Amino acid sequence: MAKITKPLCRICRRNGEKLYLKGRRCESDKCPLDPRRQRKALVAAKTSEYGMQLREKNKVKVYYGVLEKQFRRYFSIAKKAKGVTGEVLLRLLECRLDNVVYRLNWAFSRRMARQAITHGHIYVNGKRVNRPSYQVKIGDEISVGENSKYMEIAKQTKEMGRALPVPLWLESSEIELKAKVVRYPTRDEISIPVDEHLIINFYSK
Ligand code: SF4
Repeated sequence: MAKITKPLCRICRRNGEKLYLKGRRCESDKCPLDPRRQRKALVAAKTSEYGMQLREKNKVKVYYGVLEKQFRRYFSIAKKAKGVTGEVLLRLLECRLDNVVYRLNWAFSRRMARQAITHGHIYVNGKRVNRPSYQVKIGDEISVGENSKYMEIAKQTKEMGRALPVPLWLESSEIELKAKVVRYPTRDEISIPVDEHLIINFYSK
């Protein structure tokens, strides 16, 4: 499983913006970049065009928790696919199972979602899936295993995350821990603050 070992808040500080790498904690005033703490966010130093492209690429990698090799693979799939490469790339990342579990509010962060998946608590179409990178497709039904120890934790995180809306491309049951992919996300629904064109330019050299 891909694992980012650098301190996550330091990555945000270096980028000079909130990247929401720690899930719910990032929404609270515990975030060092939160304006409520009245700390000035470090403005990213002026960098070269290459530096900006590199930074945007690294930002997306840490946001979704993927390593370079995996990220390159997503890029080469996106390049061959129909549509705008940058948008397809973000859609592929957004449709990773770990991201979906997080977006459904069944985990506080993508990291926690990844752990729930690798420990075998998440099912897709009734079958256990233990690969966080699994790509969900339209019509896929996602659920937490009925007898899983994770059920109670997911219920609590869902309850606590009621204020965070589940994106419209996912249809989530109000009561049960079940959801369905009704369509793919549009670019507007992918909330990462990134300029994907810079990533395309980075890999097009
Ligand atoms: Fe840390 Fe999250 Fe704030 Fe980034 S957004 S600095 S990861 S708490």
